[in-house]
Amino acid sequence: MTPLGQALIARIQATGPMPLADYMTECLLHPLHGYYATQDPFGAGGDFVTSPEISQMFGEMLGLCLAQHWLDAGSPATFTLAEFGPGRGTLMADVLRATRSVPGFQAAASITLLEASQKLRTVQKTCLAGHRVTWIDHADQLPEAPLYLLANEFFDALPIRQFTRSSDGWRETMVHTNGQNFCFGLSDAREVSSLTQRLADTEHGSIVELCDAALPIISTIGTRLARFGGLALVVDYGGWVSLGDTFQAMRGHSYVSPLAEPGLADITAHVDFAALSAAAVAAGAKTSYATQGEVLSALGIVTRAERLAKGLEPKALQNHLSGLKRLTASGEMGELFKMLAVYPQSGPNPAGFS
Ligand code: SAH
Repeated sequence: MTPLGQALIARIQATGPMPLADYMTECLLHPLHGYYATQDPFGAGGDFVTSPEISQMFGEMLGLCLAQHWLDAGSPATFTLAEFGPGRGTLMADVLRATRSVPGFQAAASITLLEASQKLRTVQKTCLAGHRVTWIDHADQLPEAPLYLLANEFFDALPIRQFTRSSDGWRETMVHTNGQNFCFGLSDAREVSSLTQRLADTEHGSIVELCDAALPIISTIGTRLARFGGLALVVDYGGWVSLGDTFQAMRGHSYVSPLAEPGLADITAHVDFAALSAAAVAAGAKTSYATQGEVLSALGIVTRAERLAKGLEPKALQNHLSGLKRLTASGEMGELFKMLAVYPQSGPNPAGFS
C-alpha cells in the first residue's frame, strides 16, 4: 500500500468509513502524497492526455472565441483572463499566441490562474515566461472586473459524493478497509434534500453523484459575469444530469481501480453540466451547452487545420489529422466532452454556440 493509503487506513480505522469526497480530496490534493503534489500527469509519459496537449488548435479556437466576445462587448479596457486548473500552462500559452493579433486584447488582460499544485505552478511559470501571471488559491479571489475564463478538465477533478437510491432513501458510497486494502460499502438509507428532485427521473438502484465543491466555484464565476460581463467556457468529460457510477482512475493511460494506489493514479468523475448550469443561472448568468466537436467546428477548426496542414511532412500531417479527429469526432473527445458557456443575461452570445 502507498504511504497515503496507509495513512487513510489508519484514519478509517480510527473514525469509520469515509465518504468518496474525502477519499478523492486526499488522493488528489494531499500536500505531501497527493497525485497533483507528486506526479506529472500529462503527455505520453504521464497518465492521460488532455485536449490542449493533443493540438494547439484547441487553445487557438477557445482563445479566439474569448477575444471575439471581448470585442463584441465593446473591448473593456481591463479584464481578467483566467484559467482554472491550467495543468502545464499549454492552453493559456496557445490562447496568448492566438490572440496576439487582436488589437488591445492582451494589453487589457490580467492573467490569473487558479492552481492547487505548487509543482504545476512552477511548470506554468516556465511555460508562460514573458507574461505577468497571478496565481490564486480560491475562485472568490477573482478580481472584481470583466472575466474571460477557461476551465478544461478542472471540474472533473473536484470531489464527488455518490448515492444509490433504495426503497427507503439514498445510501451513500463509503470507503471501508480491512486493514490491508480498501473496498466500497453503502451507508444506511436516509433522505438527502439536494436529491429530492432526482426522485422524478431515477428508480430503485439508480446511482447519482453530487459535486458539492463545484457549486460555490461556478456560482462565483456566474456572479462575476452577471455583474462585470465576460464569458466562461467550461470543458469536461460528462453530460447533462448525473446518472450512474463514473468514479474512475487512470494510471499510465489505462483504467485502474480508484482504491488500488491512493495518490499514484488520477481520480475523476463525470461533470454534471445541468448542476453547473443551474448554479450559474441562480447567480444571475445565462448558459449555453454543446458538445466539444460542435463548438470547435462552428468556431472554424477545420479551416485552421487546413492552413496548418500545408507543408507538413507525412508523419507530422498524420499526427495533425489524428489530433483534429480526436478533438472533434463523434465517439471521441468531440462527443464525449461537453462545453458550457456562461455569460451575462444581457450582451452578446458567445461564438460557436448556436
Ligand atoms: N487544464 C489542463 C489540466 C487538467 S488536469 C489541461 O487541460 O491540460 C487538472 C488541473 O486542475 C491540474 O492543473 C490540477 O492541479 C488542477 N486542480 C485539481 N484540483 C484542483 C483544485 N481543487 N483547486 C485548484 N486546482 C486544482
